[in-house]
Amino acid sequence: MSTLQITNGRVIDIKTGNITKKTLYIKDGKFAQGKVGPADETLDVADAFLAPGFIDLHTHVFNHPLFRHGRLAADRIGVRQGVACVVDAGSSGTSTIDAFPQFVHATQTTKTYAFINIGSPGLPHITEGHASRPEFCDLPGVVKALDQHDWLVGVKVLASASHTGSFGLEAVKLARKAAEISGKPLMLHIGNAPPIVDDVLDLLTTGDIVTHTFHGKVGGILGYRDKIINSFKAAIDRGVIVDIGHGRSSFSFRVCETALAQGMPVNTISSDLHRGNVNEYAISLSRTMNKLRALGMSFIDVIRAVTSNPAKAIQLSEFGCISAGKPAHLTIFKDVNEPIKLVDAEGETRTAETQIQPIGVLVDGIHHDVSETL
Ligand SMILES: [Zn+2]
Repeated sequence: MSTLQITNGRVIDIKTGNITKKTLYIKDGKFAQGKVGPADETLDVADAFLAPGFIDLHTHVFNHPLFRHGRLAADRIGVRQGVACVVDAGSSGTSTIDAFPQFVHATQTTKTYAFINIGSPGLPHITEGHASRPEFCDLPGVVKALDQHDWLVGVKVLASASHTGSFGLEAVKLARKAAEISGKPLMLHIGNAPPIVDDVLDLLTTGDIVTHTFHGKVGGILGYRDKIINSFKAAIDRGVIVDIGHGRSSFSFRVCETALAQGMPVNTISSDLHRGNVNEYAISLSRTMNKLRALGMSFIDVIRAVTSNPAKAIQLSEFGCISAGKPAHLTIFKDVNEPIKLVDAEGETRTAETQIQPIGVLVDGIHHDVSETL
């Protein structure tokens, strides 16, 4: 039995948005109702904010030696940047998914889940065409994997010409079918047509997730006249979730602020961090969060977009709130009153007046200091 008390923290109630200065108690890796006797350890966080452990819903952490895109350790962008949980977005498909526990779960502290790619090769060093042929899209194999592994939270399809090739919409239909059979969400990457974005959005149902929503390429959610396209509005009305997925080339300030001004929501904020954008472009989840703040998204909505919203989207009941009896996953962060100029994937800049900066994280009650650039 071990006990920890965290003093002088400003605890965020995700539901109400209220912030209360109080001591948090943790016993045996779980949040406790109240004082649990003399604590074995005390952590004084000196007025920092305490939020449920941050979740990055779109990352690439399949740390397999053959995977160029995946050669990023989960802890590099997880606990070392103040993020308690990362979700790999389709780095592996049926031909490689069985190696995920060996190369990720067995070596990393950060809580890690994954979407399985409908294309059986996943995203190895050859990223093109992985879902471009019927024989690459193993529907029964994907369903079986989803049934077998509780750490698989949904299906991923990259609906863009470079990934699905002439197979196009058919790959998306197979991915949707796998999601339907398993009762888990589909995460849909939108990018360069074909397939045309309206056609793929029309296939989505309640709880599915659109990622790279605000990319700056031609033919995105603003269509060709800077107006939200009807298929995107209809998808939102059906309860489709809007995700960021910043990446190297998939977030435009202009597109996002135009969409926000037309009343569109941002439900989840994710980084799409991988080996190719961790040192520039995306860099960290908190940097992506600050970009949304620069566009006027409120403090509490930004925090919800990395806590309760992604937890609900992929049904992670142990995440998303600070509640007695739940595993103690917690992000400790400051909101530094210092403007910062931020660059999107198109090279445009905006300024955030304050900066969310994680300083530590708890996973199952174990404390880790932030040790990487944010
Ligand atoms: Zn990605």
